[in-house]
This record gives sequence, structure tokens and C-alpha cells, in this order.
Amino acid sequence: MAAKTVILGGGESGVGAAVLAQQQGFEVFLSDAGRIKEKYKKVLLQHEISFEEGKHTPSLILDADEIVKSPGIPGQVDIVKAARQKMIPVISEIEFAGRFTRAKTVCITGSNGKTTTTLLTYKMLKDAGLNAGLAGNVGKSFALQVAQNDFDIYVLEISSFQLDGMFDFKADIAVLLNITPDHLDRYGNSFEKYAASKFRIAANQGKDDAFVYCYDDAVIRKMLDGNPVGSTCYPFSIRRKDEHLAAWLEEDKDEFLNSQMIVNIKDDKMIMTLQELALSGKHNVYNSMAAAIAARLNDIRKENIQQSLTEFQGVEHRLEYVATIRGIDFINDSKATNVNSTWYALENASKPVIWIAGGQDKGNDYSSLVPIVDEKVKAIICLGKDNTKIKKAFSEHVGAIIETQSAEEAVNVAYHLGRKGDTVLLSPACASFDLFINYEDRGNRFRNAVFNL
Ligand code: ADP
Repeated sequence: MAAKTVILGGGESGVGAAVLAQQQGFEVFLSDAGRIKEKYKKVLLQHEISFEEGKHTPSLILDADEIVKSPGIPGQVDIVKAARQKMIPVISEIEFAGRFTRAKTVCITGSNGKTTTTLLTYKMLKDAGLNAGLAGNVGKSFALQVAQNDFDIYVLEISSFQLDGMFDFKADIAVLLNITPDHLDRYGNSFEKYAASKFRIAANQGKDDAFVYCYDDAVIRKMLDGNPVGSTCYPFSIRRKDEHLAAWLEEDKDEFLNSQMIVNIKDDKMIMTLQELALSGKHNVYNSMAAAIAARLNDIRKENIQQSLTEFQGVEHRLEYVATIRGIDFINDSKATNVNSTWYALENASKPVIWIAGGQDKGNDYSSLVPIVDEKVKAIICLGKDNTKIKKAFSEHVGAIIETQSAEEAVNVAYHLGRKGDTVLLSPACASFDLFINYEDRGNRFRNAVFNL
């Protein structure tokens, strides 16, 4: 009898894994404790894959030879604990799909910048004519594409939840952008555990594989000191210039945008000024360096990479300019769901900021934002159900803190507080689920409210 694979979760990742498992000849059962979206149910029915929704039935799950758990399901839920007790291996969809493809993989992780860097790298490979696929947290699942396509190379955005279920998978090129606190609620409030999870991106790598990482990130460096990786390292930095770096900055002290970004792979330097980059902000210099290194390691020509970097359109809800009304700029950074991403958004602001913040707290420590709030923020508009922590952290640092309960209310209050030359920045540092469906919903409502002013 065929081995039985049970898939937990009926979203993009789970349904992709189910289709691939069936194609590979496994007996497949999919279980989702919530409702499965119509479009995914259709795929399951089309492929005659049996499934349940609204519950996890132990007798249908715990006879599995292997379980593929979707990243949205915490490892601590009862059914996963029960499976572990029965010694059933619980793996992630990337681990599963990786077994059935020989394609090369560029795997990108970090606390922030994953989607941007993934899309940027993918664009570089596609623009250069490679037969490349895009998967992971963006677009179609890796598993579904392995089942249905025949790509030579994949660019994969990998979250720590995917990494937690990866054991034998090996990235040919692993990119680690940064490690700052996020999702600590899923790691027993342990930053060490979360950081260790991120480092799994380099697991199983040998010296023919590449590990691209941010040299300015003290957490990454410390972890590397204690536990070196087996791969060849390609560090990048905007703070140091050093021959061992794969990318660095020749800074122009007078005009930062005239600084040059150097990417040096195989002793062949690609040089670009920051002015030429389509994306603004220091964080995007990091993202651009990481993507360019990954592309150079795939032998993409420097001219092609430069062109892709000047053309890249950015991604919705990430420091997205919305409009200027009565001289007030409105910026949508709804995807900033942790403290560090918001730090970069504030750092990027050149005008006085009215900051719209808050939402579902993930164990945030706001202290690192205090200096930059002192410097740049004139008022805070809270957009969350419970704003106690934000009020406590900043009440002595800004002129006004006002609580609101909807994007429309927040935008209206911001507009009335704003003066010509101010920036209204939605960069919540929190998840959105208390008041919104998700961060896209929050960003869309913000954008619509601005257009309705
Ligand atoms: P992720 O996929 O890791 O969530 P995104 O590319 O979607 O990352 O960006 C999420 C947020 O983080 C955005 O608000 C963006 O402005 C900010 N950000 C992007 N890149 C970085 C980086 N390298 N360091 C810190 N913050 C970043």
C-alpha cells in the first residue's frame, strides 16, 4: 500500500503539497480546522483528493507516515503534538517539494525584506532570460509548481515557520537578510529559538553552496562565530568596506544618494549609485545588495542586473507612496508588522511624521524606536484594539497620542493634525488581525480613506 501523507492546512501551501503528493503516488488526506476557500476546494475536488474542514479528526490523521504542516499552523496545536508523540515526522511544504525537483534554489529569509528581495532577485533572473520560478510565501506554492512546471531555478521566499519543518532540504544559495524580533509568540518568547530557526536556511550546505548574509547584523555575526556554516560566505554591508565583503558602500558624505554600491563577485565589480536604484531607503540598499549578489552568483551579467535594479517597481504596502493632499504626504507601510521594519520606515522619513501605529502586538519591545520617534514624530495615532503598550512607550515623547479604531478614522485625524510639509505614515509595527482581515486589507483601507479625503 502507498505511504500515507496527511496535509494539515488547506491554503496555498497545503493544497499545493496535496497535489504534488498525489502526483507522486502517495495516499493523501488533507485536514483544515477552519474553512477552506472555494478556489482551493475546487482544486482538491478536481484532483479527487479527500479532505475535511472545520475539524482535525485524529483517526484520519494519526495513521499518516508523514505529515506536511502548513506554515500558518503553530507547532503547538494538539493534533501536531499528538503526531509528534506518535513519532510521525512533521515537515514543511518546502521540505516535501524539495525532494521532487532537481532545480537550483535561491532561498531568501530574514525578519524583514523577504518579499522585496525575493521579487527583486526573481526579476533579475527572469529579465536575463532564465527559466525561473517564484514561490514560497509569494505567489503559487513551491509544491504546486514542482508538480506542474519544469523550472531550472526557483527563487523561494522562506519564513521561519517553513524553516522549522525543514530537515534535509538544502538551498544552493541561501540569503539571510537580518534577524530582529518577530513572531516571538510562536517561539515561546525566545529570541534565541527564533534566531536559530532563521539559521536553518544554511542547513546542509557545503562549500559549493553560497550563504549570503548581512554583515551589519550583530545577531547573525554572533551566531556565525559560535556556529560557522559549511557554505562559502558572501557578506554584504553598508557600514564597512572590507575586501572580504561581497557588497559594500562607497559613501558620499555630502549626498548619501550619490554613494556607490559595489557588488564584487569573482573579482568583478559592479558599481551603481544609490540614485539609480528604483527603491529608496537604506533597508532597500541591503535588499538590492543581497539580490544582486544572488544574481551574480548565477552568472547574470552586470548590465542586466543594473537595469533590473533601476526598473523594479516596488511592492504594494511596503513604504508605498499614496498621495499628497494639502501638502501632506501619505505613505502606506502596512506590511511593517514588527518594530525593526517600522524603524526603517521612520529612518527613511525626511519630514515631520504623524505616525499611525499599533494593532495586534506580537510581544513588541518599543524601546529601540524611542530615539527616532523623539527626532521625527510629532504625533502618534494608534490604530489597534488595545493601545496600552504604545501609549506607555511614547506618551512622554510626542505632542499627542490619539486612539482610533478604523483606518478611516485614523486618516481623518491625521489629516486634521497635519500641516503642509508633514508625512502621514502608516507603519504599524504590529500585526493587523485585531481590526482587519490582514495587512493588505489594512493598507487598502488606508489608501481608500486617503483618496476619500
Ligand atoms: P517580509 O516579506 O520579510 O515581511 P517585505 O519585503 O514585505 O518583507 O517588507 C516588509 C516591511 O519591512 C516593509 O514595511 C519594509 O519597508 C520593511 N523592510 C524591507 N526590507 C527591510 C530590511 N532589509 N530591513 C528592515 N526592514 C525592511
